[in-house]
This record gives sequence, C-alpha cells and structure tokens, in this order.
Amino acid sequence: MTDINQLETMRRFFSSGATRPYAFRKEQLKKLKASMLQHEQDLYAALHSDLKKSPEESWVTETGLVIAELNAAIKNLHHWMEPEHARTNLLNMPSGSRVLKEPLGVVLIIGPWNYPVQLLFNPLVGAIAAGNCVVLKPSEFAPATDAVMKKIIEDVFPKEYILYVQGDGITVIPEMMNQFSFDHVFYTGSTAVGKIIYKMAAERLVPVTLELGGKSPCVVESDANIKVAARRIAMTKFSNAGQMCVAPDFVLVHASVMDKLVAALKETLLKFFSDKPEDDYNYCKIINEKQFNRLVPYLSQGTLVQGGRFDKEKLFIEPAILESVPADAPVMKDEIFGPILPVIPFTSMEEAKAVILQHPNPLAFYIYTSSKKKEREWLEAVPAGGSCVNNSSWHLTNHHLPFGGRGFSGTGCYHGKYSFETFSHKRAVMKTPTWFDPDIKYPPFKGRLKLFKWVIR
Ligand code: NAD
Repeated sequence: MTDINQLETMRRFFSSGATRPYAFRKEQLKKLKASMLQHEQDLYAALHSDLKKSPEESWVTETGLVIAELNAAIKNLHHWMEPEHARTNLLNMPSGSRVLKEPLGVVLIIGPWNYPVQLLFNPLVGAIAAGNCVVLKPSEFAPATDAVMKKIIEDVFPKEYILYVQGDGITVIPEMMNQFSFDHVFYTGSTAVGKIIYKMAAERLVPVTLELGGKSPCVVESDANIKVAARRIAMTKFSNAGQMCVAPDFVLVHASVMDKLVAALKETLLKFFSDKPEDDYNYCKIINEKQFNRLVPYLSQGTLVQGGRFDKEKLFIEPAILESVPADAPVMKDEIFGPILPVIPFTSMEEAKAVILQHPNPLAFYIYTSSKKKEREWLEAVPAGGSCVNNSSWHLTNHHLPFGGRGFSGTGCYHGKYSFETFSHKRAVMKTPTWFDPDIKYPPFKGRLKLFKWVIR
C-alpha cells in the first residue's frame, strides 16, 4: 500500500524548488546513468531471467537506449531549458513575449513488462530533465528486472524526489490516482488498461500521455527488395519473441512476390535462430503462462508454413508464419504481441487498405517499396503513430524523432526533446513597459471601432 503522506512529501519537495535548477537536473541525470552502468550486469541477468534476452539484445533495446537518451538529455538540457523568444502582435506593442518551460510537479510513470527498463526509464529521463518529482510504477510481470530497477533508483535518489512503487497495478495504481492529484500520468501498456487510466485521470483533470498498442501493419510491394525486407521484418517481428509494441503485427504482401517473401523469411529465421530456437542464444521466451496461453490458439487460425512448435515448460513458441488466415479469425482481430506472423497476399492497394483500416490509427505502419510514388501514396493512405520506409520498428530508437501513437494507439509522444516537452508546461509570459500607456486602450471606446479593426486584423 502506498502511503499517501509519501506523495504529499514529494509535493512539498517539489514546491521547495529544489528540482528546478539546471545544475540539480543535470546531476540527477548523471546519477541515473552511473547507477545504471553500475548495475549493468545485474540488468542483463534479470532480463535473461524474465525474458531470456541476451546481453547484446538487452543493450540495443533496453539499457543502451536509455543511456543514449540520458546522453542526449545531459548534452542538450541547457538549450532545452532556455526560454523561447516569441513575437508580439501590434495590439500589445511595445510588450516583449517569451515562453518558459516549467516543470509540471509530481508525475506518475507506469511501465509495461515487455521492455521493462527502456519503457520505464526513458520517460524518467524526460521527467527528470524537465525538473519534476517522479513516482515510478514498473510492471509486476518482469519481477527480476523490477528488483534491479528498484535498486538502481533507491541507490541514488531520495524517496521525496523519485519514489519506486512495486506491486499489482490493479491495486496500487487506483490507490494512488484516486487519492492524489498527479500533475501528469505517463502510461505505457495495453489499450484496455489505458482506458482505465484515462478515466481515473479525468476524474481529477490530470493530463495524460498514453503509449498504447494495436495492430501495426506491414506492406511489402511488388517492387520491394525482398531479401532486405525479409531480414528486417524477421528481425523486428521475432526479436523479444514478438513481444514488441511496434513489431509488424501482420504482413500484406503483393501476391506476385508472396512466395519469394515467405521463402526468404523461412531462410532468414533459420539463420537468425537456428533449427532449435528454444535453445538459441538469440531467441527470447514468452513472459508468462498467461501470455503463452493467449498466444497458442492463434497458431491454429491459419495454415502454418513455418515453425509453430511450442513448449509450455520453457514458455517457448517457435517463430511461426501463418498463411490463409480468415479475416474474421481472432489472430487478425487482436494485437498478436508474440512470435506469430500472418502473411496475407493482396493484388490492389484498395484490397490491402480494406484489411488495414479494420484497425485504424495503428502505433506504426511499415511500407517496403522502391517507388517514391508508392511510398507517398501508402503514407498518405494509412494514418499511424509513426512509420518506416523499407524498415520496421527502428524509428523508435532514433531519439531525434517523436515516438507515440494516435487514436487507439495512444496520445502524446516522447523521446529526446519531445520527452522534455511532454513533462514541461509551456508558460506564456508577456512583459509590458509602463512608459507607454495610451488612453485609447481604455474606455470610453465609442467611435474607435474603425481604429480597433485596423489594429486587430
Ligand atoms: P498492461 O496494461 O497489462 O500493464 C501495464 C501497466 O499497467 C503495468 O504496470 C500494470 O501494473 C498496470 N496495470 C495493469 N492492469 C491495471 C489496472 N487494471 N489498473 C491500473 N493499472 C494496471 O500492459 P502490458 O501487458 O504490460 O503491455 C502490453 C501492451 O502494452 C501491448 O498492448 C503493447 O502493444 C503495449 N505497449 C505499448 C508500448 C508503446 O510504447 N506504445 C510499448 C510497450 C507495450
């Protein structure tokens, strides 16, 4: 149970102004970096225990991404914090205008289990950089990583500044949100729980960022480089055993290159994960039995042309490619979030669009083509949170780009300076000199309409 007094203590700490100075924020970012690096080996062991992730994959998709985010924040913080000069309109001359970036206050960050480090600590970097106090609520479903992250935080931060709250989200989160008015809630996880968080936040008019899931489609056109497409799709679909929010959920491939793509995917999977992926260094496991049981029925909802063996003891599902999947099968209705890839042929853009638009506003949309015209047509045809052309998922790792969804896949964005902005309030300030105060601005107004129309136009 979270002690509500602890949250009030955080509010007081924030109000003291201690978190505002540039020097303080920079020092905290450096402390987080040092603590993460100190626990690097523990994090690798924990991620292996929770998800069977290799240290290499853990660096590229978890720790390394956070360190890159920290480096960017440390380097650019001064610039991000500077007030922005704004122009002043004729009506308010000779005032001066600027936009201050103010910290929000005490913010809550809620993380999921699939990339437990990256998805809890990346928003934390933005929240610290912006000068906030932070409550961190990790997912309870990656317990080994949860324990190490707690240590990383508690080794270097006092509880009135950064509070690490463990426990079952269904209990712990409403307990906090229903008693305390956070200044922002940043949630990453499923759309279903996102709706619950949004409702709780609305009760107290708390602003939210929602980083949700969905079915991210991937289109392979007839003119795509099939070999490269197969490698990039296989890499991002089966990394972390498919438990990735921006993984290609399903592939729509032009019928003329369907066989070629499937053959290239099969060959690639063998190279990446061998013919015994259950024992392969590079292949992860399903997080828990609940997710395993959710995924296994999908394997029989089409024709398996590759993989699909499974072992409950090992929480293992072999990378699977499904063909001939009926449009109304659950695997084409729910977000798959596992190592199962439906491959569906199309002959016209209209036909492919009809499948995609069953799930509008996905978190990501990928198009493989060598034609600039097709690239433009597809990007215009499918609104999405983010996109890659001739690639999948990697846009997330570029901290110069905003990352977030739209509609059912989320609201708001973060990474790099976008995180700083998410956790800052843009405060407008206008300063007016006193040496000029013409009577014309004050009543009586009668007869000045023409003049006012000239000034405000
Ligand atoms: P989840 O919704 O089950 O859990 C996320 C967090 O919510 C956890 O901290 C959990 O404790 C908490 N929670 C769970 N139930 C709750 C409830 N009833 N009330 C309040 N809090 C609750 O999500 P998950 O299974 O951990 O993650 C998988 C989903 O997240 C997928 O849909 C995936 O696409 C999405 N996701 C999105 C992103 C993104 O960046 N957009 C990243 C990773 C995962």
